[in-house]
Amino acid sequence: MKGFIEECLRKCLAGERLSRNEIIRLLDVEPGGVDDRFLREAAREASQKIAGGKGYIWCAVGMDYAPCSMNCKFCSFGEKWGIVREPRHFEPEQVFAHVRTYAENGAAYIVLRTTEFYDLDRLLGFIPEIRAKIPGGYAIVLNTGELDAAAAAKAKAAGVYGVYHALRLREGTDTPFNPAERIATMKNVSASGMTLVSLVEPLGCEHTDEEIADSFLNAAACGAKICGAMARFPVEGTPFGSSPMISGPHLAHVVAALRLSGGSAVRDICVHKATHEALESGANVMVVESGAIPRDSDFSEKDWAGVDMARAREMLAAAGYEISLPPAL
Ligand code: SF4
Repeated sequence: MKGFIEECLRKCLAGERLSRNEIIRLLDVEPGGVDDRFLREAAREASQKIAGGKGYIWCAVGMDYAPCSMNCKFCSFGEKWGIVREPRHFEPEQVFAHVRTYAENGAAYIVLRTTEFYDLDRLLGFIPEIRAKIPGGYAIVLNTGELDAAAAAKAKAAGVYGVYHALRLREGTDTPFNPAERIATMKNVSASGMTLVSLVEPLGCEHTDEEIADSFLNAAACGAKICGAMARFPVEGTPFGSSPMISGPHLAHVVAALRLSGGSAVRDICVHKATHEALESGANVMVVESGAIPRDSDFSEKDWAGVDMARAREMLAAAGYEISLPPAL
């Protein structure tokens, strides 16, 4: 297995994406074992070389805590689950306050995140004010509903750097979406010239290596430059409320395999929720988030789960990364 991992590292550093079979073979390594330690060290080396030792903080502002009629089985906003009793929206001044704190503390990405049907013009309307009030080299990213080519072009023209969008694991089964529609949005984002960011998510214990590989390869084929993995959080009251989370070592293992899988086209690997072991296994992007959080039943006035900018900086630095602003488009 060592020789195979070395060969995958060589291909990654040469810029080559691994084949589906190679990715599955890496994912099949036992998390926490000797081979996995070797894999994670190789991924760390790849991260240092491909990302140039740069670490990035992804700061998501959850704009609307509101029931969403799509009812994805893992999301606290699904209206069927009845978790959101009193809808809340961040007031513009609250949005600016959060963005200011993030920008002043080294955020690379400011992510305006919404439920599926948030009005795009309203969302884009925040951008000129954010830019006017809060200086900095941060990039503005959207995480919102589907975008056709015209909507993607409009977002790009409004100064949006990138869009987070994913074909979620078991899309169409654990969600009511037509997978083709999700993929179309992902392709529209890349075609518009914005950066597509797309993780393998929401990752649970039941997902197979084949599903993980296919999810990653789909993101890469749609042009994603930032990939990675996000665990599914068991929110009480959702259909996955009693499903256990994947373990920290397992998540770090998946992150390591994905870091070696994307060659140099996938330049950054994000992990959520970040751990030291995942950041030492090839991930160089971590998340700070506030407001409406699909992984929680409550609105979060403060940064979620105790991970604020100071903590993110500390964790990335401890893993050997230099906190950086995003690369130019
Ligand atoms: S994941 Fe998105 S689309 Fe699905 S229920 Fe939550 S907000 Fe709606």
